[in-house]
Amino acid sequence: MKAWRGMHEVAVVGAGMVGAALALALAKDGFDVALVEPRPPAPWHESDEVDLRVVALAPSAIELFRRLDVWTSIASARACAYRHMRVWDALAPGALHFDGADVDAAQLGFIVENRLIQHCLWQALQNAPGITLHCPGQVVASECDAARRVLTLADDRVVAARLVVAADGADSPLRQLLGIATQDRDYAQRAVVAHVATERAHEFTAWQRFLPQATLAFLPLADGRSSIVWSVPDAEAQRLLQLDDEEFRAELAAAFDFRLGAVTATTARAAFPLRLRLSDRYIAERFALIGDAAHVVHPLAGQGVNLGLRDVDELCAVLQQARGAQGDIAAAHVLRRYERRRRSDNLLAARAFDAIQRVFGQQQSGLLAAARGAALGVVDRLPPLKRMFARHAAGR
Ligand SMILES: Cc1cc2nc3c(=O)[nH]c(=O)nc-3n(C[C@H](O)[C@H](O)[C@H](O)COP(=O)(O)OP(=O)(O)OC[C@H]3O[C@@H](n4cnc5c(N)ncnc54)[C@H](O)[C@@H]3O)c2cc1C
Repeated sequence: MKAWRGMHEVAVVGAGMVGAALALALAKDGFDVALVEPRPPAPWHESDEVDLRVVALAPSAIELFRRLDVWTSIASARACAYRHMRVWDALAPGALHFDGADVDAAQLGFIVENRLIQHCLWQALQNAPGITLHCPGQVVASECDAARRVLTLADDRVVAARLVVAADGADSPLRQLLGIATQDRDYAQRAVVAHVATERAHEFTAWQRFLPQATLAFLPLADGRSSIVWSVPDAEAQRLLQLDDEEFRAELAAAFDFRLGAVTATTARAAFPLRLRLSDRYIAERFALIGDAAHVVHPLAGQGVNLGLRDVDELCAVLQQARGAQGDIAAAHVLRRYERRRRSDNLLAARAFDAIQRVFGQQQSGLLAAARGAALGVVDRLPPLKRMFARHAAGR
C-alpha cells in the first residue's frame, strides 16, 4: 500500500452537484473531509447566457441547499419557481395537474442552471473549514486495509480516509476500479435541449407532453423564456439538431400543441444521450457510491440530481449516527444502512420512470393509447393518489 500522510475521515471523489453538496454537508457536521476533482466548475456570471443544462430542484433539494447556506446565493442569482405542473398526452384525452398545494408549499420547486448550482457550491467549499481540496486531482488507484482506504491520484499524490465516497458521475471511474457492476438500458434516445421564447407567458408552469416515441418538457426560466427538454429517438434528435432555427421553432411549437403559442426565438441546441444505469451495489469495503455514480435515470420526471441529493442527506445521517455512537463511520453495518435506505428508494423511482418511458415512449394506437390517456385523468381525479405522487417527487 502507498505511503500516506495524515488521514481524513471521509474522502469524496467528484465535485459535481452531488459530491460538492456532500463534502459541504459533512464539513458542516464537523467531519474532516478531502474532496478530489479533476477540474473546477466553469465560473458563472450574471451577464452569461443562461446555461443550456438546467435542473428542476424539488423541495427536498432546496431544503438541503438552505442547510448548506447556498440557497440564498442561488435563488438571488437566477432561479425560477414553478408553481404548477401540467402533463398531457398527444394520443388521448386526459391530463394531470399538480400545484404547490399538493406538497404544502407555495411552489413545486425551482428551475436552476447546473452551472450556477456548481458555482455557488464551489464558492462555499473554498471558505468551508474542514475541507482539503485536491483540484486538479484524478483518482487512478484505490487500495484498502482494515482501517482506511487509500487513493492514488494521477500525479502520485495519495489521499487516505476512513471512508471514500464516489460521486464521480454516470461513468464513475472509481466504481469501475472497484469492479462494481451496473444494469444498463440504452434508451436509444437523446434529450435535445434549448432555451426558447414563446408568444404566451409560461405561467410559472413545468409543462410536459407525451408524444408517440417522445416526451417534450417546457420548463420556466426567470427571464420569461422556457428551457425545453425534447427526448426523441437518436436519429430524430440528429434531424432536430440539423434543422434551421425557423424550422425548429415551427416543429417545436406544433409538437407542443401550441400551448404557449408560437415559438418566437431559440438559442443553439445541444443533445444528451439517455440511459438507465443502476449499480448492483452502493457499497464496498470503506466505500460508498452516491448520485449518478450509483443511479442514472431518464430525465422525464426531472429527478436525477434530486435523488442524488437525497443520497447526501441519508449518508450524512448514518455517518453522524455512527460517530455519535463512537463507532467506526465506515463499519459494514453503517454503510449497509445507507445502502438499504437509498437503493430501494432509487430503484423504485428509476423503475417507475422506466415504466412511464415504456408506456408513453412507444408508438401506440387504439386501446393502449386510450388507456394511457385515461390513466392520467384517473390520477388527476384521485386526490390521495395525486398527492402521493407529488409528495414523492418533492422528496417528502
Ligand atoms: C437532459 C437532462 C435533463 C436533466 N434534468 C434534470 C432535472 O430536471 N432534475 C434533476 O434532478 N436531474 C436532472 N437531470 C439529471 C442530472 O443532471 C444529474 O443527475 C446530475 O447532474 C448528476 O450529478 P452528479 O454530481 O451525481 O454527477 P456529475 O455531474 O456527472 O459529476 C461528477 C463529477 O465527478 C468528477 N470526476 C469524474 N471522474 C473523476 C475522477 N477520476 N476523479 C475525481 N473526480 C472525477 C467530474 O469532473 C464531475 O465534476 C437531467 C439530466 C439530463 C441529461
